[in-house]
Amino acid sequence: MKGLISGQTTICGIIGDPIGHTMSPAMHNAAFKSLGLNYVYVPFKVKSMELRKAIEGIRGLNLRGVNVTIPHKVAVVQLLDKLDPLAERIGAVNTIVNDEGILTGYNTDATGFLQTLHDRNIEPAEKKVLLLGAGGAARAIGHILTREKARVTILNRKQDLSWAEDLAARLSRNYKTEVKALELTAENLKKAVNNAEILVNATSLGMSPEIDSTPVPAELLRADLTVFDVVYNPLQTRLLREAKAVGAQTIDGLEMLVRQGAVSFEIWTGVKPPVEVMREAALSLLQKNEK
Ligand code: NDP
Repeated sequence: MKGLISGQTTICGIIGDPIGHTMSPAMHNAAFKSLGLNYVYVPFKVKSMELRKAIEGIRGLNLRGVNVTIPHKVAVVQLLDKLDPLAERIGAVNTIVNDEGILTGYNTDATGFLQTLHDRNIEPAEKKVLLLGAGGAARAIGHILTREKARVTILNRKQDLSWAEDLAARLSRNYKTEVKALELTAENLKKAVNNAEILVNATSLGMSPEIDSTPVPAELLRADLTVFDVVYNPLQTRLLREAKAVGAQTIDGLEMLVRQGAVSFEIWTGVKPPVEVMREAALSLLQKNEK
């Protein structure tokens, strides 16, 4: 933001519930400030039953756009005027842009994940990827990996296996490939990790305050595995610490967080995002929270 908020200030924000721990205001406001853009980014706590009114409020208050987080990413899809093709396939939106009252939904979690792999010169095509989880993040990651022709296996807890099976069936159908979904048991996990080149944790296991939890026992990890943990709070999860200890390549959730934010920033402003500034802002907030 440049100077004080004024009648010329363009407003963006994030809707979710809970919203107290979001990193996004810090990242976006730092980015606006560094480029001298007269924009501001604010958090809005929106309960599920108020979602429709909140979306109408984007038009009514002439907000430029919002990010969408837990628990609204799927429910919001049907309230928008247009969807980007990738968001439509995923069936979840984390970014909305308001073009003179026309609301379009995007999924920048997926793009952010792929950009993070590309930044590290990892090309997912033909790679055997084990995806843990079938929630919001896993859904976006499963789509982008399958679109990029990775060979994906999904493991999820039994209680929600039908959700994982449904995701695998939709990925197989959409991208004309075979995606398997299995129950997250010790035996399936062992086989699947042994067979994988890239392991992606898209469950919330390991996230604060459960920082001693890990989805994969240390003895299954190997030096030739790439381990990507989408959890960013804490940055060094137990999974990543144990993967590093055996010499595996590790990727933490910060980069995906920054990349998804950077893509949203560009959608709203049309300006190339200051990725380094956004990374610094998110990192310093995370480090402050960890103290
Ligand atoms: P969801 O609640 O939609 O999904 C959570 C997933 O974790 C589900 O598959 C759930 O399984 C699984 N899970 C939870 N607890 C356990 C457990 N004890 N054992 C096994 N599986 C478990 O959350 P999201 O997908 O939105 O977020 C997941 C994580 O990813 C969070 O830590 C979030 O902060 C992070 N994230 C990071 C992003 C980034 O940019 N780096 C972007 C988005 C999310 P079940 O279905 O059986 O409950």
